[in-house]
Amino acid sequence: MSFQTLGLGPNILQAIEESGYSEPTPIQTSAIPLIINGSDVIGIAQTGTGKTAAFTLPMLATLERLKKEGPRDRKTRALVISPTRELVVQIHDNVKAYAKHLPLKVATVYGGVGEGPQKQALRNGVDLVIATPGRLMDLMEQGCADFSGLEFLVLDEADRMLDMGFLPNIRRISKDLPKKGRQTLLFSATLSKEIEKLTHEFQYKPQTVEIGRRSNPADTVEQYVHEVPKSQKIDLLKHLLQDNEMYSVLVFTRTKYGADRVARQLGRDKISSGAIHSNRSQNQRARALQDFKDGKIRVLVATDIAARGIDVDGITHVVNFDFPPHTEDYVHRIGRTGRANMDGVAISFITADDRDAFKALERFIKRSIQIRKPEGFECKPDRPTQGGGQNRPSRGFKPGKGKPRHGGNRSKGSGGRKGGGGGRSQSGGGNPSGESQGRPQGGKSKPSFSGGGRPEGGGGQRRRLTNRSAAKRSFR
Ligand code: AMP
Repeated sequence: MSFQTLGLGPNILQAIEESGYSEPTPIQTSAIPLIINGSDVIGIAQTGTGKTAAFTLPMLATLERLKKEGPRDRKTRALVISPTRELVVQIHDNVKAYAKHLPLKVATVYGGVGEGPQKQALRNGVDLVIATPGRLMDLMEQGCADFSGLEFLVLDEADRMLDMGFLPNIRRISKDLPKKGRQTLLFSATLSKEIEKLTHEFQYKPQTVEIGRRSNPADTVEQYVHEVPKSQKIDLLKHLLQDNEMYSVLVFTRTKYGADRVARQLGRDKISSGAIHSNRSQNQRARALQDFKDGKIRVLVATDIAARGIDVDGITHVVNFDFPPHTEDYVHRIGRTGRANMDGVAISFITADDRDAFKALERFIKRSIQIRKPEGFECKPDRPTQGGGQNRPSRGFKPGKGKPRHGGNRSKGSGGRKGGGGGRSQSGGGNPSGESQGRPQGGKSKPSFSGGGRPEGGGGQRRRLTNRSAAKRSFR
């Protein structure tokens, strides 16, 4: 299959060639013709599959046609809504590349930066707006945007937008958008009941395109875990980073506080690192990401939400410093490495508390992940804490009441563990890494792993990363 047969027009084809893409990815092959033909489309695909181009290329082709044939006004024709600022910037970068030979104006709208330039851009009239829901709603309420001529609405990463509680915002926004004649595209990594409801609400006779639901993480990623007591996670990370093969490393922590702390602790050992999470300003996040892309920093520490949209080529390793409580997050995290057929390695730290989540993950991805003893690193069991300190259940939380917040640990069967719903954990006792902030621990302390607790699963040998510097533009 080639891009020539998809009906995109010569200007876009030229831009695709200049982007170095030789052939469409499966999601592009399926979705582009449907979108060009005017259908509403549900795309089930993860980032990393080429989904951004799958919706932007045909949309740009239609916008180009409308620009020539349609009414001459300054109305916005297309609106893309995406959950995070990073994703908005990412989509914008793609659009700039694909639309470079088209006479289209594009604006981005997201929080964390001044409203002024965004308002001005909207008032001047743009063809395409790429936005996060919160800031977009603010600006619409101030009457800055004219969506009365809207032809396209794209809801990107719809599942994540629901998780983040954006549904009311999206409903508000959609009330002010024209319904008739509008084409609505919805992309999501998974097709849940909630997503189906959303499609009924926003779409008309949608066609579904599903690209191998990647509950199985990319084949190009080597995955293994290290069992490690909580208090030694940071030492283990530093130990692993003595390996020079780990030169572009994305580390995931569960909390913002944990991300800052890990970055700080690495910094103390002169390991160049940065942190990105939603408490950092847009400029700080953009700078950290750019430094990471440019290779100025070796380690980027991120929370799940901030990491959404990180599209950096050549990430050699992903380290789950905190094991992800939700299996989908694991798949998403490790998809940051091994992109576009490059090799990558995903290393997860698991503590005694993570056993259930780890088992659940193995069931979800339908394969077992090797447990390896870290070479040259001695694990010492955490001293059990007595009485109070971090193991005290949080006050004000009643079992069975209130949902754990996103980021809380939803795994089952962990005795007194109370989820993330109530209160703060006490950080007084014996956990210097501090990553359990925001997730109160159970009442009982559990025995931690000792270094020799499980057999070494063929560990030790390290696979050389082969084509990590090779051309990034080839898909299977
Ligand atoms: P996405 O799934 O949109 O996050 O895209 C992942 C990466 O794939 C981005 O770096 C894109 O530039 C790249 N990409 C998109 N389409 C293609 C293609 N047809 N061939 C090669 N790379 C692509």
